Amino acid sequence: MFHVNENYQKLPGSYLFSTIAKKVNAYQEANPDKNIIRLGIGDVTQPLAPAIIEAMHKAVDEMGHAETFHGYAPDLGYEFLRKAIAENDYAARGCEVAADEIFVSDGAKSDSGNIQEIFGQDNKIAVCDPVYPVYVDSNVMAGRTGTYDKETGTWSDVIYMPCTAENHFVPEFPKKTPDMIYLCLPNNPTGTTLTKDQLQEWVDYANKVGAVIIYDAAYEAYISEDNVAHSIYECKGARTCAIELHSFSKNAGFTGVRLGYTVVPKDLKCGEVSLHDMWARRHGTKFNGAPYIVQRAGEAVYSEEGKAQLKEQVAYYMKNAKTIKEGLKDAGYTVFGGVNAPYIWLKTPDQMTSWEFFDYLLENANVVGTPGSGFGPSGEGYFRLTAFGNYENTVKALERIKAL
Ligand SMILES: *Cc1c(COP(=O)(O)O)cnc(C)c1O
Repeated sequence: MFHVNENYQKLPGSYLFSTIAKKVNAYQEANPDKNIIRLGIGDVTQPLAPAIIEAMHKAVDEMGHAETFHGYAPDLGYEFLRKAIAENDYAARGCEVAADEIFVSDGAKSDSGNIQEIFGQDNKIAVCDPVYPVYVDSNVMAGRTGTYDKETGTWSDVIYMPCTAENHFVPEFPKKTPDMIYLCLPNNPTGTTLTKDQLQEWVDYANKVGAVIIYDAAYEAYISEDNVAHSIYECKGARTCAIELHSFSKNAGFTGVRLGYTVVPKDLKCGEVSLHDMWARRHGTKFNGAPYIVQRAGEAVYSEEGKAQLKEQVAYYMKNAKTIKEGLKDAGYTVFGGVNAPYIWLKTPDQMTSWEFFDYLLENANVVGTPGSGFGPSGEGYFRLTAFGNYENTVKALERIKAL
């Protein structure tokens, strides 16, 4: 008889977004006349920018001619895209990241889930709490758990770093020294971020204790403040301790197109072993490259027209963020985020739990958000709204919330 991977039995509770969908569907079925506005799931709604569509059309046409047809892509990515990334996301910001340190992929979710494969099973991981669930679940699947504490419902090798209003959502160095540290900045779900100086402290800490930082920069394009780093490689010493993940989903609307990249610097080593070489080997073995058409679309993100059009798209969502933030404030809520990220994190009123507030908002305002407790224990008592809806619905949702 075969065995299954028993680590899967250790995974934390049911998947957050399927629970939400079930509740929303049940409510809609019971109340078919109600117009529900969804500000819950982190998916974009604006169509792809014209420069991207144009690049994709051109690439599709190339694929129809023998002279310009493309088969398997190079498994680390096409040179034209890696060069565009190196120039625009790194050289232009004074970061030392070479094109051949960039691994093109089909998105940051798979990279953030897969990157743990190159680390030993007894490594301890530290995550911010609340947390993007992929970081924890992918490590639990790999057996990176340690021993279970029934009382707290936590694993000894998964260190939660509380990020709450009390510490201004800035994680503190944990008591137990981690081997792998996940940082998502600007943060999903809290919409908050660290200053560049605060991030530098984490880089110094990682280098000191011999930990690696897995830095998720999925929301980098939403940064509006000057003292916030767009890349961890803006910090001194990051090349010896940090891996950086990027997505084209939130800055360019590629959630359905699929494209991302990961930087593993050549200076990142464990003794003599190069993590860069390990990830290249892993990528080459288990991944066959992002589609040519999509990589051309990615290249267009860095063209002059592409940049201008995407700046407008980000501004559109950030106008929603402002609408949500100010509307909630007017209604007396305590709100965070929404300045460098398309997420607003609010304190639930009247000591309601996150799920109580979810039901309250669904039933009384017909607005869907995400309960903070679904992202980790420190998310209890908080609630996430996203700025990824369309503007008219966002305005309407806030009118309803204000009228409660
Ligand atoms: C949306 C998101 C991603 C992006 O995932 P893709 O697979 O590139 O669509 C990565 N990390 C976080 C924290 C996200 O919210």
